[in-house]
Amino acid sequence: DSADFDREVKSVCPFCGVGCQVSMKVKGDRIVNVEGINGPANEGRLCVKGRFGFDYIHHPHRLTKPMIRRKDAPEKGLNVDPANPWTHFREATWDEALDAAAHGLQDLRSYYGGTSVAGFGSAKCTNEEAYLFQKFIRQGFGHNNVDHCTRLCHASSVAALMENVGSGAVTATFNEIENADVAIVIGANPTENHPVAATYFKQFAKRGGKLIVMDPRAQALRRHAAHMLQFRPGTDVALLNAIMNVIVEEKLYDRQYIEGFTEGFFEFRDHIRAFTPDRMSELCGIDEDTIRTVARTFARAERAMIFWGMGVSQHIHGTDNARCLISLALLCGHIGRPGTGLHPLRGQNNVQGASDAGLIPQVLPDYQSVTDPEVRALFKHIWRGTEIQATPGLTVVEIMDRVYRGEIKGMYILGENPAMSDPDVDHARKALAQLDHLVVQDIFLTETANYADVILPASAFAEKTGTVTNTNRQVQVARQAVPPPGEAREDWEILVDLARRIGLDWDYDDPREVFDEMKMSMRSLHHITWKRLEEQNAVTYPTSGPNDPGAAVVFGDGFPRRAGRAKFTPARVTPPAELPDERFPMILTTGRQLEHWHTGSMTRRASVLDAVEPEANCSLHPSTLRKLGVEPGGKVRLTTRRGSVEVMARADRAVAPDMVFLPFAYVEAAANILTNPALDPFGKIPEFKYSAVRVEKV
Ligand code: SF4
Repeated sequence: DSADFDREVKSVCPFCGVGCQVSMKVKGDRIVNVEGINGPANEGRLCVKGRFGFDYIHHPHRLTKPMIRRKDAPEKGLNVDPANPWTHFREATWDEALDAAAHGLQDLRSYYGGTSVAGFGSAKCTNEEAYLFQKFIRQGFGHNNVDHCTRLCHASSVAALMENVGSGAVTATFNEIENADVAIVIGANPTENHPVAATYFKQFAKRGGKLIVMDPRAQALRRHAAHMLQFRPGTDVALLNAIMNVIVEEKLYDRQYIEGFTEGFFEFRDHIRAFTPDRMSELCGIDEDTIRTVARTFARAERAMIFWGMGVSQHIHGTDNARCLISLALLCGHIGRPGTGLHPLRGQNNVQGASDAGLIPQVLPDYQSVTDPEVRALFKHIWRGTEIQATPGLTVVEIMDRVYRGEIKGMYILGENPAMSDPDVDHARKALAQLDHLVVQDIFLTETANYADVILPASAFAEKTGTVTNTNRQVQVARQAVPPPGEAREDWEILVDLARRIGLDWDYDDPREVFDEMKMSMRSLHHITWKRLEEQNAVTYPTSGPNDPGAAVVFGDGFPRRAGRAKFTPARVTPPAELPDERFPMILTTGRQLEHWHTGSMTRRASVLDAVEPEANCSLHPSTLRKLGVEPGGKVRLTTRRGSVEVMARADRAVAPDMVFLPFAYVEAAANILTNPALDPFGKIPEFKYSAVRVEKV
């Protein structure tokens, strides 16, 4: 009975980057109900995941004791008995498991050197845990080979933003759409992936705002849009350059803004002249008139915003895609004022915070480069004499390649699931099976934990207190409502104990002490104290003082770059890494769906969500199904150059006839068996959004 509860605890939804604030009603050690409260991002709203997706934390599959791989276990792999998934592990005490984890990592460090060990942290953890994790690898093993799922999400967006704007975070909160006249939403499907943000977009359209949706899938937001541009997959640069060509040729750009706040315009103008709408139209599949109308609408708006998602970032030209969006906003002066700005919609609830906290191989906390001697000196001081390696570290897919080649022999993986989330996942699974020593810290026996030597049972969002930062740059407090089950522990405590065992002099007694240390190197946290967060629940950074709620819009008076100017970086049209051919004639694109979250480890154990979407599925256009002779609900086999899966097919007119959409949450039809690991050269993000595929009736 959800009305029968002992206490109420305020926290933050653990799923998407919107960061909705919630109130959890608790009876004993169980959460019985979750409701939205008045957070700055959600104003009381929640989507189906936030409202009904919490009972996974009480699921019987939770890890409640440390586990160690049995000596007589067969070779590592996913082929465990589903009726007895624990069969290759035995229970251990915490001392035994932590000693085994530490000794294994230390032995590799002593024998092969520190670079034989790498780490994946998690955007599902708090800021303090992300900070501790990157420090654990950098201080404990003397290198920067530590990364997390931002690499698979918005790494290319961040690369483009850092390069051209000087900051990787959004320039305006999504709620600023209330002040806009025009908004572009490109390569994002907010009604499914950022549902509460989508409610603001719909209200914007209802009050007369012009919504322009651009996406290879004719997704639900089109019903609210003034224009729906269903362009050909992988042709983002062609479409965006054509729009900017119109703005340049018709002199619709904001000359005053360009002169005052940017650099590189003249080279950019000369470059963009080649991308005429008539030439680009055939490539991207959008007619010239629509390109011209959209260009004029955006350029003539008084205030306009651009939102994007992984449809933009997850390409080998993801950084170029984001460069185009930045140039488009700069051309028209649509940055730095209310109702204007650039907003890459963040995926996981704390991917902004984990990135800010330095869980990235190239940068320390607050995006301070490891190549800068002054930055290294600062951290050497704060971290009591630790030498920071000056070479940027390896990224997620690069680390897995080194594991496959036997150069990295040990890993510590906290809350990530590369055995499901990496592209060409068979390759990642083979790599994980080869590791001499794998320590996995998680709340379930994930696919990745199947390959572990030591499993450390960790805590879910409602079982610990810490700070998290959402897509809007809002730092919020997630509070403990219930204790972790059995012997499971809070992640920061496990990290501290493991660090001490590998010889680090960590003496944190509380996440607050970690937060205070973070403030010593992170200017973004200036004026943000733990006490203030406890009292106010959320503070947007940057904030100018204790009573300033923080800046919803930034860069009104210049950019954190040389001479305060943002930069135009021209982008060329490049094809996807592989194109359809006779053997693989269609295009596969992957993503999420409303009810399931990423690799499914949490939402497939949430009873309501799993009841709504219980089965692996893909979406095909009805005409494609007819050609295949498959009824909606029938089975199809999807095959790419990397592998094959069988999955139930749905009829969906939103998908073009030569495309198939496959969510990546289902282990029984793991989308990443099919995906292409080709990387964007700047953001090092894989091309999840485009593979050549063959579809057959089963
Ligand atoms: Fe949670 Fe995102 Fe839904 Fe809000 S919109 S309830 S943060 S999943």
